[in-house]
Amino acid sequence: PLPVVAIVGRPNVGKSTLVNRILGRRAAVVQDTPGVTRDRIAYEALWNGKRFTLVDTGGWDPKAAGLGASITRQAEYAMNTADVIVFVVDSSVGATDTDLAAARILRRADRPVVLVANKVDDERSEANAAELWSLGLGEPNPVSALHGRNSGDLLDLILDAM
Ligand code: GDP
Ligand code: MG
Repeated sequence: PLPVVAIVGRPNVGKSTLVNRILGRRAAVVQDTPGVTRDRIAYEALWNGKRFTLVDTGGWDPKAAGLGASITRQAEYAMNTADVIVFVVDSSVGATDTDLAAARILRRADRPVVLVANKVDDERSEANAAELWSLGLGEPNPVSALHGRNSGDLLDLILDAM
C-alpha cells in the first residue's frame, strides 16, 4: 500500500484547495482505501516520482456533527491511519479555539504532523504564519494553496517526513 497523507483542519482553511494544488491534473479518486467514507476522499498523488495516497478529510457537514466533534474525529482518524498528518490553519484568521483543540490532540500523535499556515499569498502575510508557533506543533510552513506559493517546498517536506 502507498503511504497515506491526511489533510486535516477546520472548514474553509483551504484543505481542498491544497489537495487540488498537490494533485494538479493527475487527480484520481481512490476507492479502496480502508476507512475512507463519504466524508473522507482519498486520491492518488505523485510528487518527484513518489506515489502516495492523499486523504481530504473535510467532506462532512460540520453542522450535523458539531464542529468540535468533527475536528476531533478527523484528527483521531488521521492519527490512526495516516503516515503523515498535514494540519492546515488559515493564517489570515489566526488560531481559533477549534484550531487549538485540534492541535492539542495532534500534539499527541506518534507520527509526523506538518503544520501549514495557509493563505500566505504574499510576503506581507508571512508574519501571520509566525503567530502559529503558538499551536505547539513546531514550525508553521507558510503556503498559498490558491496561488501555489511555497507549495513545492511543502511537498518536499511532506515526502521527507514519510
Ligand atoms: P476547505 O473547507 O478547508 O476544504 O477549504 P477550501 O479549499 O474549500 O477553501 C475555502 C476558501 O478559501 C475558498 O474560497 C478558497 O478559494 C480560499 N482559499 C484556499 N486557499 C487559499 C489561499 O491560499 N489564499 C487565499 N487567499 N484563499 C484561499
Ligand atoms: Mg474541502
